Amino acid sequence: MQLSSLRTEVLRMARRAHAAGLMKGANGNFSARDPGSGLIVITPSGMPYDVMTEADLVVIRPDGTVAEGDRRPSSETPMHTHLYRTLPDVHAVAHTHSPYATALALLGRPIPPVLPEMIKLGEEVPVAPFALPGTPELGERVAETLRRTGARAALLQAHGALAVGRDPEEAILRALDLEEVAMVYVLALQIGDPPNLPSDTFQRLREVYGLSGR
Ligand SMILES: [Zn+2]
Repeated sequence: MQLSSLRTEVLRMARRAHAAGLMKGANGNFSARDPGSGLIVITPSGMPYDVMTEADLVVIRPDGTVAEGDRRPSSETPMHTHLYRTLPDVHAVAHTHSPYATALALLGRPIPPVLPEMIKLGEEVPVAPFALPGTPELGERVAETLRRTGARAALLQAHGALAVGRDPEEAILRALDLEEVAMVYVLALQIGDPPNLPSDTFQRLREVYGLSGR
């Protein structure tokens, strides 16, 4: 994939997340990796999404140094680069502070398998232990949580939410699905204790619909 089309896709991810209310102001950050060169296109630090253009995006090398662009890359660059280094099948990352997912993250409360569409998120949504925003340790905790559980989305303790994908489209759809599932789960918790799905649900979904999961 050319870097110019990757820029288009990263900006589209950020705009879709912003339009869907997944974050306010300049919160959150988005990136995608070019599988050929290993270069990463990432959103800039501290810039509101409604004025961001493709020219504002920053191209960084796998070690996080800037290869192209006038702006400072996202403060969460160390988390993004660590995820790409340790999860070779991941080529896009969407990190937001979407409110329902973040509310669960504050409580350190994972989302158990309560809805069939969670197959797209890896069946359950785990919580990555707290680390200071902007540090490599945050990337290590998130990568380890995704690797250990096989999940493709995670809650970041006392911080926010994150989804990964093989491409920007998959990552942003997972970020949107994650907030939807989190919202329904939080609402259900107000009136009761939602049960887990029967244990063979995801296996049957894969068989019946040919869906891919873990
Ligand atoms: Zn954040």
